Amino acid sequence: MRANILLIYTGGTIGMIKNAQSEALQAFNFEHLLKSIPELKLINCSIDTLSFDTPIDSSNMNPLHWIHLAKTIENKYTEYDGFVVLHGSDTMSYSASALSFMLEHLNKPVIFTGSQLPIGDLRTDAKENLITSIQLASLQQNNTPVIREVGLYFEYKLYRGNRATKINADHFEAFASYNFPPLVTSGLKLQVQHDLLLKNFTQDKLKVHTSLDTNIALIKLFPGIQQAALKSILETPNLKGVVLETYGSGNATTEKWFLDLLSSAISKGIHIINVTQCSGGMVQLGHYETSKQMRDMGVISAKDMTTEATITKLMYLLGKRDVKGMFQLVFETSLRGELTEN
Ligand code: ASP
Repeated sequence: MRANILLIYTGGTIGMIKNAQSEALQAFNFEHLLKSIPELKLINCSIDTLSFDTPIDSSNMNPLHWIHLAKTIENKYTEYDGFVVLHGSDTMSYSASALSFMLEHLNKPVIFTGSQLPIGDLRTDAKENLITSIQLASLQQNNTPVIREVGLYFEYKLYRGNRATKINADHFEAFASYNFPPLVTSGLKLQVQHDLLLKNFTQDKLKVHTSLDTNIALIKLFPGIQQAALKSILETPNLKGVVLETYGSGNATTEKWFLDLLSSAISKGIHIINVTQCSGGMVQLGHYETSKQMRDMGVISAKDMTTEATITKLMYLLGKRDVKGMFQLVFETSLRGELTEN
């Protein structure tokens, strides 16, 4: 079956051009993007395109754009077999993570991709990334899509969207997924790891969640962090959740002022989530003395989630009313394959 693909252009380097005067890269007309890749006609699928009215550098991405994207996919869901989202690489892993939570019971591919060099550049990585992403979104078996989740394709690898993170500003290999293997590797053939894909053979209809609560903060610990700085963040009006980037397997200083601040925030109903600063590996609260007290006071473990997945999961769960009494349990459970349960 010939797949129908919707290509959604949000902005990013892939469709940018150099401003002749300032030399800065800025977004340009999306039509031009398709003309630059005549090879797209060779793929066995039909492609429709849609562009953000004002394409943006992904550093300007915010939850309102995610909601717009999620609603666009919802509105077009029955018309298309797969979706490819062209997005700047800078915040792509945040958007892919957010959409993975917002699109519940997804049973079609939503593939994020972009590039390090603009499509018109002689040495561009945009063509391969775009062409393979479209092929991945078109993959079918017995007339049903092979990929039924949010993925992120970059430089020959398809990652689970909520497992990927940007690791390099210069290399073509800009993303990695340290805690979960790639879902597909593109070599001479597309090597699909079928056993790793989310199954999602549900009969439930796509449910799009658009209530995201952004009353959260991200705090990265460092030796020498000051009490006054931490206190002022924890006293932010309306604060509902904090992602605390800790050391190693979830460790932090055991100084009294630090633990007192956390425990008083928790007693005010603020959720504190412990995620590791390490690129790979897992938070194990209680493994060392330096995390035991946090576990005892009710700090939540992000396990092996990326910071991007942790932040967007926090916004998503804070926006849901039905998880209130079970917040910790739900947070520590895999909802879309974003963490390894143990
Ligand atoms: N600054 C650009 C963006 O994220 C970089 C890229 O597209 O890769 O929109």
